[in-house]
Parts: sequence; structure tokens; C-alpha cells
Amino acid sequence: MDLSFTPEEQKFREEIRAWVKENLPQEISHKVHNALELTRDDLQSWAKILGKKGWLGYGWPTEFGGPGWTAIQRHLFEEETALAGAPRIIPFGPVMVAPVIMAFGNAEQQKRFLPGIASGEVWWSQGYSEPGSGSDLASVKTKAERKGDKYIVNGQKTWTTLGQYGDWMFNLVRTSNEGKPQTGISFLLLDMKSPGVTVRPIKLLDGGHEVNEVFFDNVEVPAENLIGEENKGWTYAKHLLSHERTNIADVNRAKRELERLKRIARSEGVYDDQRFRDEIAKLEVDIVALEMMVLRVLSAATSGKNSLDVAGLLKIRGSEIQQRYSELMMLAGGPYSLPLIREAMEAGWQGNFPGGNPALAPLTSTFFNMRKTTIYGGSNEVQRNIVAQTVLG
Ligand SMILES: Cc1cc2nc3c(=O)[nH]c(=O)nc-3n(C[C@H](O)[C@H](O)[C@H](O)COP(=O)(O)OP(=O)(O)OC[C@H]3O[C@@H](n4cnc5c(N)ncnc54)[C@H](O)[C@@H]3O)c2cc1C
Repeated sequence: MDLSFTPEEQKFREEIRAWVKENLPQEISHKVHNALELTRDDLQSWAKILGKKGWLGYGWPTEFGGPGWTAIQRHLFEEETALAGAPRIIPFGPVMVAPVIMAFGNAEQQKRFLPGIASGEVWWSQGYSEPGSGSDLASVKTKAERKGDKYIVNGQKTWTTLGQYGDWMFNLVRTSNEGKPQTGISFLLLDMKSPGVTVRPIKLLDGGHEVNEVFFDNVEVPAENLIGEENKGWTYAKHLLSHERTNIADVNRAKRELERLKRIARSEGVYDDQRFRDEIAKLEVDIVALEMMVLRVLSAATSGKNSLDVAGLLKIRGSEIQQRYSELMMLAGGPYSLPLIREAMEAGWQGNFPGGNPALAPLTSTFFNMRKTTIYGGSNEVQRNIVAQTVLG
């Protein structure tokens, strides 16, 4: 098997690298390389820079204004941006809801919603999980009742990532209680500035405000915001989840963090320890294996094969790797990584506390933050069940 890139692909990589070098603000890449907290402005200004170039929707086909890149080109783009220290593209708009709007939305909805996603102007949030409906997502209770040309929405979503910035939210809502739970769900786009929407923060272990509870109290949503058919939302939801899970694998960030791990290990004097180097080597091998798997999924998706089962595998391996590098960084930092200094926690990922080593300070919060990866996007236990059912029948 020849795994090397063609001369054209290498040239493409060089072009991306040069453009990113020219356009990625240095203060943003500094924060990313050192795991410092990114503000909404940091995230959105990078999204808008990409949007202007037509690359925020880098996985989109040309008919919807995307670059129409191949799976390999998309991978090279992700790799070059990650290694250069670009923030992750917030996936809810361009990676998650956009493919659903393209596949199942009508022409009017595509015209209305896709440009704001492609330009990075409009911030989207994901309204799937509810208290009591996480793994058992089909049990969602948030109710949308049709009244004339509107839906009246009542209920609660939870764990809404960065929902405090959200302009729009895509939601799974219950429109029927007939039959199996899956058959009564609809996919509704909701303006978060509507009267009756309340967003409340959930404080995380790392001190950060990354997730929220969102409450709906008689929120009026125009019926034209329904995607596809009423009660068919489960099909659209699953389409979206395969994109989410492949995205969570985030192999290119793992490559960048591997370099950070090596930097920390060198600066703390453990890089020359044979046992510690073995651990780094094992991690590196796992990252390369994950990369090969990602490339296989991308090329399968290009040829139209359903890759949902493999997306679950990617999610499992990718999230385990993310936790592993955050653990090794803690080990490399030794006692400097450990203290739960209140000021550092309150400072989120900044860790500018008196007497601390600023290079190491974010490690505890990064470690805690990475605990989420085996839970969100569908917990790893549940992914294992799905993979087992798909493979073993
Ligand atoms: C940081 C973070 C960000 C998130 N962001 C979003 C977001 O933006 N939007 C959104 O909609 N959701 C979001 N989520 C929610 C996420 O999708 C859910 O947390 C996840 O699906 C698990 O659901 P749950 O938390 O209700 O846990 P539960 O479903 O209650 O599961 C609890 C435990 O039981 C295990 N379990 C459950 N069922 C089974 C089973 N059948 N077999 C074996 N084990 C099982 C699970 O693996 C888990 O360990 C986020 C979660 C986190 C932690």
C-alpha cells in the first residue's frame, strides 16, 4: 500500500501552509500552542478569516459554495491548520448542521442559512441532549406543538456547548407520542434570540464556562424552520451524528499536542527517561494508526459508503488518545501539574497565578477538560455497543 501523497497533493499542502502562515493571527496561534483560553472573538475572527477565503465550509461541495476538495485535500487542510496552531473550527454550523441542511433542507432554507454558516457570521449551537435524554437520545421530551404556521416549543436542553454565544440552535423536538420514540422527533431550527429562550451556564471542573442549560418557555418558531418532514427528524439527527463523531477524533490536534507533550517533557527533564519515551512512542504509534483510519473513513464517505459504524470507532480511539496525551503531560509536569490552585482554576486555562510555572499551569485544567471526550458526542460505552451491533450483528 502506497501511503505517500502525490506531487499535486504536496503542492496543495504547501499552498495551504503558506496561506495559513500569512493569515493566522500570531496571538491566536500562541494561545492554541499553549492551551490558553480562546475568547469568542478569537474563535470567530479565525472563522471569519476562513469564511472570507471560502474555507470555513472546507468540506462542502462547490454547489453550496464550498471548495469541493477531495478527502485527502480536506485532511491536509485540517493537518496544516492544526499544526500551525489554528483554533478548531467550531463544528456546530459548518460541520454538523450544514450537511443536514444541504441533504434534507429545501432550497429556501439552503439559501437562507448556508451563507451565514459559510462566512462565520452566525454562531450555531446543538440542542440534542436533555436531562434524562443523553445516551437514550430518542427519549427527548422538548415539545413542539404545531399552531397554524408556528411551532410552540417548551422544554429544556442541556450540555449546550458554547450556547452562551449561540445565535441559532438546531433542535431535536418531540412532535408526536405515537409509535416508537424515534418516529415522533422533528428537526427544528430555532433563533436563540426569540422570546422565551433562557441560557444558563454550567460550571465545569476546570473552572471554565463551556456548557449551558437552555430552557424554552412557549418559544414561537416559524413552521418554515422545520427541516424535512415532521416526525422524520431522527433520520436527519443520525446523519449529523456521523459527522460529529468523525470530527471528534481530531487526529490533527493530537499530532500538535504530541509535539507539546514532547516540549513539556524536554523542559521538565523526563524526555531522556527511557520509560517515559516509551509512553510517548506508544502514543505516537496510536496517533498514526488513527490517522490511517480517518483517511479510510474519508475516502469511504467520498465514494458514498455509509461510515457511521467506523465513525463510532474513530470517536472511541480519538477520545482515548486525547485523554492519554493530557495524562502524559500531567506526568511530565510532575508536581507542577498537580495543585488545584483556586486562582488558577478561576482563571480558566490561563493559569497566571503567583509562583506558578506558566508553561505548566494549564495542565490540570486541560486534564479535567479532556474527561469530557469519552462522554460527549455519544459516550464511548454506547459507541462500543453500536460498533459491536454493526460488526457482530
Ligand atoms: C462537555 C460536554 C459537551 C457537550 N455538548 C453538547 C452539545 O453541545 N449539545 C448536546 O446536545 N449535547 C452535548 N453534550 C451531551 C452529550 O452528548 C451527552 O453527555 C452524552 O450523550 C451522554 O449522555 P448523558 O450525559 O445523559 O449520560 P447517560 O446517558 O446518563 O449515561 C451515563 C453513563 O451510563 C452509560 N450508559 C448509558 N447507556 C448505556 C448503555 N446502553 N450501555 C452501556 N453504558 C451505558 C454511559 O456510557 C455513561 O457512562 C455534551 C456533553 C459534555 C460532557
